Amino acid sequence: MRCAFCETTGTRSALHAHMTDIHADRVVTESDGWGRKFLQLDCPACDESYRREVKPRLKDPTFLDEYAREIRIVAFDMFLYHWQGVHEGETDA
Ligand SMILES: [Zn+2]
Ligand SMILES: [Zn+2]
Repeated sequence: MRCAFCETTGTRSALHAHMTDIHADRVVTESDGWGRKFLQLDCPACDESYRREVKPRLKDPTFLDEYAREIRIVAFDMFLYHWQGVHEGETDA
């Protein structure tokens, strides 16, 4: 399969690692105006997005980095289900 954001191809697990590392900036922080923060990953091919509230439990910056990485891993995993299920095959042309 092909990466949603570039020309890289590979297995699902290889692309999962690739997206988590190379396309980490696709997961953006959004605020809802009520003081809550969310991490959001938008599909580049349609209006679907994955959104999850951020609830850091500690103020340790190292912990926050780890926490953000864990969220990215989950976000890209969810996104890959969507990408495979909806768009795989559309982009082969
Ligand atoms: Zn890529
Ligand atoms: Zn989509």
